[in-house]
Amino acid sequence: MTVVRTPLVVGNWKMNGAFETNRALIEALLAALAQQSLPEIGVCPPFPYLPQIAALLAETPIGWGAQTVSEHRAGAYTGQVSAPMLRDLGCRYVIVGHSERRQYCGETDAQVAAQTMAGLDSGLVPIVCVGESAEQEASGQTLAVIDRQLAPLLLTLAGVADEGASVVIAYEPVWAIGTGKTPTPEGVQAVHAHIRQRLVAAGLVQTRILYGGSVKGSNAAILFALPDVDGGLIGGAALDAQDFSTICTAAMMHAV
Ligand code: PEP
Repeated sequence: MTVVRTPLVVGNWKMNGAFETNRALIEALLAALAQQSLPEIGVCPPFPYLPQIAALLAETPIGWGAQTVSEHRAGAYTGQVSAPMLRDLGCRYVIVGHSERRQYCGETDAQVAAQTMAGLDSGLVPIVCVGESAEQEASGQTLAVIDRQLAPLLLTLAGVADEGASVVIAYEPVWAIGTGKTPTPEGVQAVHAHIRQRLVAAGLVQTRILYGGSVKGSNAAILFALPDVDGGLIGGAALDAQDFSTICTAAMMHAV
């Protein structure tokens, strides 16, 4: 079987935005990307702006999504937002297990697996973030941490036919997020190859693996050329239309 993994670039806006600046950003992005062949692209604004972004991106090839989701379908979970609600809003993607959610909201590996399944059940594409802290990296624990973070997810997904095409993994070293630091290309490839091995062993051959952490227009081409990097999850640079479009172009250069 030939495996084709379409490159994917997703912008994580985090807790940034306002109606005025969102509109300007999306208009500038659409202008910058016009008349180019594009990879698959998504943007994930904060919840309140999803309807605005949905309207601005309707009839364009760019998808949108949320930055987290409840593992529950409905009920007494004040403040949470369910996967069916995101689907109602036309979301295609949902980021789960971002290191900022793990750190500030105490999300566990088991919860992240449950959120992923909730997303899949509603037809969303979950983008599951994994990655080690600076201390874990310094003490050589990177692969063990990623194995631990992936374990409940792989257990849940094993045997679920063709979900591999829908779920996406994002390797985001915590120490690279928003710091301007990135691992060496060899370091990124080594971790991605390890994740690939784990996915293939679980039967998830189609699953895309994104790299995230200080990706910019200036380093995207080198990172996206790595054999097991299928695109990027982009934080800060996703708020700059020119930089984000350069990153999208770099991903397209590596489309099969
Ligand atoms: C992120 O938060 O998902 C991220 C990748 O951030 P940045 O690109 O700013 O490092």
